[in-house]
Amino acid sequence: MSDTAPTARVIDGKAYAAALRARIARAVETLKLRHNLQPGLAVVIVGEDPASQIYVRNKGEQTHEAGMRSDTHRLDASTTEEQLLSLIDALNGDPHIHGILVQLPLPAHIDATKVLAAIDPDKDVDGFHIINVGRLAAGLPGLVPCTPLGCLMLLKDLHGDLTGKRAVVIGRSNIVGKPMAQLLLGESCTVTIAHSRTRDLPAVCREADILVAAVGRPEMVKADWIKPGATVIDVGINRVPSLDPVKAAEGKTRVVGDVDFKEAAAVAGAVTPVPGGVGPMTIACLLLNTYTSACRAAGIEPELPELAA
Ligand code: NAD
Repeated sequence: MSDTAPTARVIDGKAYAAALRARIARAVETLKLRHNLQPGLAVVIVGEDPASQIYVRNKGEQTHEAGMRSDTHRLDASTTEEQLLSLIDALNGDPHIHGILVQLPLPAHIDATKVLAAIDPDKDVDGFHIINVGRLAAGLPGLVPCTPLGCLMLLKDLHGDLTGKRAVVIGRSNIVGKPMAQLLLGESCTVTIAHSRTRDLPAVCREADILVAAVGRPEMVKADWIKPGATVIDVGINRVPSLDPVKAAEGKTRVVGDVDFKEAAAVAGAVTPVPGGVGPMTIACLLLNTYTSACRAAGIEPELPELAA
């Protein structure tokens, strides 16, 4: 397949996310002018994990650029669970903070489930609180995990109405696979969740008009897994050795998705690249959730779409 020219439309998540952030910034400006309200996001990071530090810095910068208040709480790796819970409690009660995000992973001595459960569900902009999981499952307004929300926005931008489409989601994690499936069900797709125990995965995937891969296996989805013309959303972020053997020997890496992009581009109707596809949508949706949360707290009708509501 590798010699075949690409035919698929490449979905530019980077551009879509930039446009969404600009819309959010305008809506935030209006909130400030009309209602004297500035949405605020608090990000909490415990320890020195380098990847987490980069994510948190990017979140802080983009929150600030959108005109929102951005507070980053950098806690020492030795922080106790009790200390973290007491910070969450203070943020829950802070009227200037509308979104609280605890960067995962947390150090092993802290129970992440307990910490996530302590966040006020109406400030849970990651959408991981069990109350928001339940709201999504029940089709009630809540806060939806950012990555699947971003995938849905890209799909709706491309297709408009998704009613009746066959969707296959590979991966059943709580942060991507399951909420993605719920969102697609909410859009009246016929949804299959595939996972590590699924039999004949390629055949299951070939049924899909919409194929979402959220697995964490580099370039697993090949051309013959894809129905011609299907839309392929690649959530995976996998670091693999550089293609250049000299650089690879020096330990240089590159990032690939769960989909073999070159193969997919020759068969699919549309496909997200990695990087530049789903990735940039995640922080944009975090800002959207913070904006939505601030509007709801003040009883103001949001100007931006509440896709998940
Ligand atoms: P996870 O490890 O929690 O879940 C992976 C899922 O894939 C599991 O449900 C498992 O059943 C399934 N799986 C594993 N091996 C499989 C196989 N061989 N065949 C079929 N299914 C298989 O991962 P996650 O947190 O859901 O993340 C998935 C990927 O998405 C990772 O690469 C992660 O880095 C990436 N991710 C990207 C973003 C983003 O912003 N773009 C956000 C979150 C996660």
